[in-house]
Amino acid sequence: MSDAKTNDRMEKIVSLCKRRGFIFQSSEIYGGINGFWDYGPLGAELKRNVKDLWWNSMTRMREDVVGLEATIIMHPAIWKASGHVDTFTDPMCDCLLTKKRFRADQIEAQSGTAYHYSGAKDSASGKQNSEAYAVLLPPGKPPESARKTATQFYQDRGLQQVELLGERTEKVENSQKFNPENGSLLTEPRPFNLMFKTHYGPVESEDNVAYLRPETAQAIFVQFKNVLETSRVKVPFGIAQIGKAFRNEVTPRNFIFRSREFEQMELEFFIKPDEAVEAVAGSVSKATAGHPGEPQPNWGWETWHKYWVEERIKFYENIGLPRTTLEEYWQKPEELAHYARATVDLLFKFPFGTQELEGIAARSDYDLSQHERFSGKGMGVFDEDLRGAWAKVDVDKKAEMQKRFVAEKAKNLVERKKLPEAEANTQAEAQAKIFFENLAKGQYIPHVIEPSAGVDRLILALIANAYAEEDVPDEKGKIETRVVMRFHPRVAPIKVAVFPLLKNKPELVKKATEIRDLLRPHMNVFYDDAGAIGRRYRRQDEAGTPFGLTIDFDTLGETPELKDTVTLRDRDTMQQVRVKIDELLPMLLAKIR
Ligand code: ATP
Repeated sequence: MSDAKTNDRMEKIVSLCKRRGFIFQSSEIYGGINGFWDYGPLGAELKRNVKDLWWNSMTRMREDVVGLEATIIMHPAIWKASGHVDTFTDPMCDCLLTKKRFRADQIEAQSGTAYHYSGAKDSASGKQNSEAYAVLLPPGKPPESARKTATQFYQDRGLQQVELLGERTEKVENSQKFNPENGSLLTEPRPFNLMFKTHYGPVESEDNVAYLRPETAQAIFVQFKNVLETSRVKVPFGIAQIGKAFRNEVTPRNFIFRSREFEQMELEFFIKPDEAVEAVAGSVSKATAGHPGEPQPNWGWETWHKYWVEERIKFYENIGLPRTTLEEYWQKPEELAHYARATVDLLFKFPFGTQELEGIAARSDYDLSQHERFSGKGMGVFDEDLRGAWAKVDVDKKAEMQKRFVAEKAKNLVERKKLPEAEANTQAEAQAKIFFENLAKGQYIPHVIEPSAGVDRLILALIANAYAEEDVPDEKGKIETRVVMRFHPRVAPIKVAVFPLLKNKPELVKKATEIRDLLRPHMNVFYDDAGAIGRRYRRQDEAGTPFGLTIDFDTLGETPELKDTVTLRDRDTMQQVRVKIDELLPMLLAKIR
């Protein structure tokens, strides 16, 4: 899609979101605040539906997942253990002219001629500034424009009559060192921590620093033991959480795709290490193509990971995002975090490009091990069956498993942590010793598969996927453009709109309100008696309401065989059928559930 078309589509989506009350800029009357968005009446319903669907499919419809709702501010040591304090950074740089800030890795690469200056002199006062500066000009632009920008740069630093010094030019290709908007040189990239910092208690000091959580996952890890001990769950099992997360993104953009305050839906699914599975089940299954089916005792991490990738795709299909709108991106070994065994990004084809909707990572036992190390509290589990099974594994097999474990760990340490081979082997052997001693006692630290989705990105995907324009004849046969949000009925903010044909006929109004009240306890119903019926339909098309019910004189018995029936209009086909009032509820429920 061309850029203009993409922008056009995004602009239309953003404008519809505001016009119909899906999404507003936060604090709009004060000029807005960059990277923060509010959900209006329709958006709030849409979001609630999405979260409920995720929650139900992840927890209530399963035997092996329970929920959690933790605080946003947690003990700061958690973020030390998770690595966020030290490494949760993006490279950032500033425009030397305007001070505008960029995420260094997202700057559009540019080519052209760079005009370098070694400094400048004030020809009035003789004052000199020896700060080097440069401006990139695209092909065909006159050198004067570089000189003008450079003059401005030195004027901003106190020189008045600027005489540029040491001009030299250089051909530049695909450089990310210049501001794409004005050609000015940028500062060198430096790491910028994305966590929002605050303080708890009445004193602002380094001792009571706290962070707004940048992800919901860590709370799940730190409450793992409490959940395990208080719910009747056994590994393999998961803990799910939906909640706000905060990241001080350098350049929030693409509407709600990248914001500073957003919501996540995360599952941490805890599994046995493969060695424990092998001891108990005799062997470990290999992942095959497609959905691996119902969970089995011989599943290792690979099959579990594949299972969750497929389950998540199934979820998206169920709420109206067909597989064709999604792509799987399997991260390459060199892109993986050192502890991760595999990560799949599920990408959605947004109007501005194909980008991440959800990440599904096999994170080994890294997270729980880190919290064990930092908190000093044991994160291992005890499994009686494992202890019994391990005692029966023959000695050669144990030795072979140990050899495999050491080889895999050592390879990982060499490749990902760049350790020399000998040192990697020593470390791997030490880890193996502890791991297998614990296994013999029936103890291990669970490994984890993490499907982590963003609510807001999903809302944007649903909105972008639903948005459609089509030319249809109006009541007088004139062609007009109909904007229709084709949400799946499961996510649609309003499920059904109820329209009395005329608002000044008390019998029609009475019947219509009766029908509204009949349906209301079961679904979100919108009652609308204002304006021509055609206009009311159009309003609901833009809201994405899948069904419209019109109560007319036939409903009241004007045509006797149509008494107690209503017209049901389908949003997508615009077909209208007569339905008995008695049959409405079961029929609609079957479509929206
Ligand atoms: P990205 O690379 O796009 O910044 P990420 O890989 O850092 O995303 P994760 O840390 O894996 O993202 O977070 C899990 C999910 O949370 C993402 O797939 C996305 O849906 C959502 N998410 C992350 N950052 C943001 C954000 N700034 N705004 C909205 N949603 C976000």
